[in-house]
Amino acid sequence: MQLEEGGRIPALSRRGFIGSAAAFAGYSLIVRASAARAEGDAGPRTHEEIRAALAAIEPKPKPSEPYAPEPGMSVVALDCDLMVAGGGMSGICAALAAARNGAKVVFVQDRSRLGGNASSEIRMHIVGADKHGSRKGWREGGIIEELRLEDAARNPHRAYELWDLMLYDKVISERNITLLLDTAVFRAETQDGRIQTAWARCDKTETLYKISSPLYADCTGDSRLGFEAGAEFHWGREGKLDFAEELAPAEGDARTQGSSILFTARQHDRPMPFTPPPWAKKISAEDLVFRKPNELDYGYWWIELGGMGNTIKDNERLRFELLAIVLGVWDYIKNSGARPDAANWALEFVGMVPGKRESRRLLGPHVFVQPEVEGAWKQFPDGVAIGGWALDEHPPEGFYGKDIKPFTPSPVPEVYNIPFRSLYSRNIANLLMAGRNISASHVAFTSTRVMATCAVMGQAVGTAAALCAKGKFLPKDLSADPARVAALQQRLLRDDQSIRNCRNEDPDDLARHATARASAETLGPAANVLSGEVRDMPDEWKHRWGTALTPDTWIELAWQKPRRISQVQLTFDSGFERELTLTASSAKTAKMIRGPQPETLRDYTLELLKADTVVATQKIEGNVQRLRRHRLAPVEADRLRLRVHATHGADRAALFEIRAYA
Ligand SMILES: Cc1cc2nc3c(=O)[nH]c(=O)nc-3n(C[C@H](O)[C@H](O)[C@H](O)COP(=O)(O)OP(=O)(O)OC[C@H]3O[C@@H](n4cnc5c(N)ncnc54)[C@H](O)[C@@H]3O)c2cc1C
Repeated sequence: MQLEEGGRIPALSRRGFIGSAAAFAGYSLIVRASAARAEGDAGPRTHEEIRAALAAIEPKPKPSEPYAPEPGMSVVALDCDLMVAGGGMSGICAALAAARNGAKVVFVQDRSRLGGNASSEIRMHIVGADKHGSRKGWREGGIIEELRLEDAARNPHRAYELWDLMLYDKVISERNITLLLDTAVFRAETQDGRIQTAWARCDKTETLYKISSPLYADCTGDSRLGFEAGAEFHWGREGKLDFAEELAPAEGDARTQGSSILFTARQHDRPMPFTPPPWAKKISAEDLVFRKPNELDYGYWWIELGGMGNTIKDNERLRFELLAIVLGVWDYIKNSGARPDAANWALEFVGMVPGKRESRRLLGPHVFVQPEVEGAWKQFPDGVAIGGWALDEHPPEGFYGKDIKPFTPSPVPEVYNIPFRSLYSRNIANLLMAGRNISASHVAFTSTRVMATCAVMGQAVGTAAALCAKGKFLPKDLSADPARVAALQQRLLRDDQSIRNCRNEDPDDLARHATARASAETLGPAANVLSGEVRDMPDEWKHRWGTALTPDTWIELAWQKPRRISQVQLTFDSGFERELTLTASSAKTAKMIRGPQPETLRDYTLELLKADTVVATQKIEGNVQRLRRHRLAPVEADRLRLRVHATHGADRAALFEIRAYA
């Protein structure tokens, strides 16, 4: 009997083995090669299937339901289990998580590219709980890890547009997602405290989408969907006494962090001139006392404006002023004489979309606040995602506050949990949210706002929505029931989400009733793969099996009596002790590995045995992922063996977890 990867009928079959991927031969193999797909799905969509899905959302010649205020627009009505608004890292992870857990998703993004502030339009690198790699071992698991690993392996040369394309590939290939690009949510119809319909417009196809769903997720950053639906929100900074926050100003105000425009630049082999447009700002050394233009290659986040006004309504003026400052700073670098080392440097890219840090935050039944970030999170029964970035405050004056430091980070003592109660609206019963617009005070937001944290919140929200849709209950019903909260946490762990103080207690995992042994255990015992945790701190071997790699390296689980098995799930080591992200900064990249991570098992064989006879086998080549799932037609087995053939360079084999399901 042969195992199947991701439920897909295998394309290659040779002497009973199935190679799941041709290592790095071409882009079209990416998804098949490495996606940690949901169990039970039918693999990524084919070209024809994607075309058919796109045809289904095209306006029909005779719209069934014209929309009176806009007679020129065609109306397309869509139904789903979850509508996700906003295609930044939070929205992407929410849409993927919901779809992979069985929900039909309509995913609406107002730009042509996915990724939000991480896309090539803005080019901000993703950071999170591992705090630029200085809190080693705390890189996030789950979907964001899948995206980072895929990008590092396929895009070692750091082309931002290929990162965008990979995000598109992931989303468009997902069977349960209807993706609407260049489409903006602009209206919501609400009745009895629930959104009945959300409206989105695509002027490129002259289409209005009328989206009806039992559940909605606002991942727009600006809370646009929640705002239209009448969800309660907060704008600005709370006062010190509002939530007993030491870092809050004495009095609350409407100020926020500002927006920024980034650039990238490259060194050439000859001098490159630069002439700014007449409208560029004249920048002097005085403007830059606290803002040193050190690195030349990836732009300056401290070119920030808008916090004193309104980052949404002022966006067009902010774009102009930010561009004027960016070009002024580059003029200073190139032409003031202060940076002779910049003579051969030239701009490659200047953003046109102001990257937004802060605007509205939707209010949930719980507002996540500074004392909780700093330790009181330990009392949450409903942690669903981790954060760990510093409380990273920026002055609302931004670049014009030239005598004020552009940021004041206050370290967070340890990685914390974010509660589910901060991820859904307190007054719109079917509205969830993830990203920078969650229910957090301004001070807590200064930590939760970074994109890997937004991504893991997205995964939590998408997974929760899928559970709600399946059980036909609301987020508040999930929250109120400890068994449902536990089920959500277990589902998240199964998908490699990290949650502090939560371990694998999945009643369906057959591996929990097995014993483990291995060919050798020189670094970590085989039993570690059953510890229920999938993370070690650097040099720790508490939750990983590990041994020197030899031609006969294996680990196996054994059951006292045969079990019916139809799925095997493996969690490999992918080097969590290193930072991993796409960045235009060469200095930051130097600390990463842009390629497959050396410790990850590349080639391996899975064998299922019954009474010493191999009853099923699969050989996998070219793996780059941490989480792999292998499906098979159900088979009775009393042993499950993983034979390791090669890593991506490490001379040791390591594995965090083996799970098995009926
Ligand atoms: C200059 C700058 C530097 C930063 N530095 C870092 C850093 O180094 N690392 C880090 O991790 N984070 C950093 N941040 C913070 C981080 O980028 C944001 O907090 C993060 O992008 C929030 O993610 P999100 O998914 O909530 O929102 P976004 O990334 O803003 O994505 C929201 C998406 O929703 C779309 N959208 C908005 N309205 C609608 C609508 N009506 N309909 C449909 N779609 C809509 C937007 O186009 C956007 O693509 C920085 C931010 C800025 C601006």
